[in-house]
Amino acid sequence: MASFCNIEKIIRGRVLFDEPLKKHTTFRIGGPARVWAEPIDPKDIKEIVSFAIDAAIPLEVIGNGSNLLVHDMGLNRIAISLSAPHFKRAKTEKDSIRVGAGLHISEMLEYCCQKGLSGLERLTGIPGTIGGALAMNGGDIGSNVEEVHTITKSGRERLFKQKDISFGYRRSDLEGFIITEAKLSVKQSTSVDVRALCKKHLDEKRATQDLGSLSAGCIFKNPEDIDLSAGELVESLGFKGKRCGGALVSEKHANFIVNSDGASFGDVMELIEMIRDKAKEERSVNLELEVKILG
Ligand SMILES: Cc1cc2nc3c(=O)[nH]c(=O)nc-3n(C[C@H](O)[C@H](O)[C@H](O)COP(=O)(O)OP(=O)(O)OC[C@H]3O[C@@H](n4cnc5c(N)ncnc54)[C@H](O)[C@@H]3O)c2cc1C
Repeated sequence: MASFCNIEKIIRGRVLFDEPLKKHTTFRIGGPARVWAEPIDPKDIKEIVSFAIDAAIPLEVIGNGSNLLVHDMGLNRIAISLSAPHFKRAKTEKDSIRVGAGLHISEMLEYCCQKGLSGLERLTGIPGTIGGALAMNGGDIGSNVEEVHTITKSGRERLFKQKDISFGYRRSDLEGFIITEAKLSVKQSTSVDVRALCKKHLDEKRATQDLGSLSAGCIFKNPEDIDLSAGELVESLGFKGKRCGGALVSEKHANFIVNSDGASFGDVMELIEMIRDKAKEERSVNLELEVKILG
């Protein structure tokens, strides 16, 4: 079995050991990742995959950590971060843009504003990367997808064309692959119009969501079997403002739990379980998690 320290000799990108994941999640919660690796290109990713197979250690891709709740004990895994410049590129190709999976959505939208490319403005305010949005179909990014480049967990490159991928509500077939790049459809417009539309979406989001606090966005998916959003349901159950330790159900949007005061993983989980139990008992609703729990 490979020794963990050897990974530093194998890849060209930066490697850190016992890197605190609270530094890499918008919740600011999470213990250390045994290995934190920043590959510089797809070849480096393949080296990490082959190392992980030899060492029998699971891999976890971390984007901007904006949909993650990580255990305080951390992760006994290799966390891959696509933060190197190779994965943050953006380029225009006719009526599409080619973007690296590590590019932040706000950086992609700034690129679109500067070039006057329209069609992705509805993603404004989502604090994630392109890779995270594709894996989760955040902001329904799937409807712009033309192709997605990935590396499989056995280390092979695999190109998905739009027709090969099914995107659903906060899910896609790309989960489980390491997404490296995507081609997204856009339309020619003007910088002024694209910027105005982004501002409109951001204003709407600011009015309803708790964007200024430490959170992972919506905790629960909207339930299918009741005519209420998850936020409306949680509010109607009386949870707005409810606190467990440092975790608090947002006063602005009841589907947001915020880390208001050094919350632990356990504080957030306690609130989640209380809400789920009450939703089940009083409304017979099984609330499914939108946030991903790691560790
Ligand atoms: C204030 C706030 C507002 C939000 N608003 C919205 C919203 O309006 N709409 C919405 O959909 N979401 C929203 N979110 C949730 C979150 O921002 C999205 O789910 C986002 O797409 C996650 O991207 P990320 O890069 O942070 O992914 P992470 O949270 O790091 O990871 C999420 C999942 O994606 C996987 N992943 C990440 N990168 C890759 C990759 N390159 N290859 C393969 N898998 C990958 C991870 O393994 C993990 O399973 C919000 C979150 C916050 C904190």
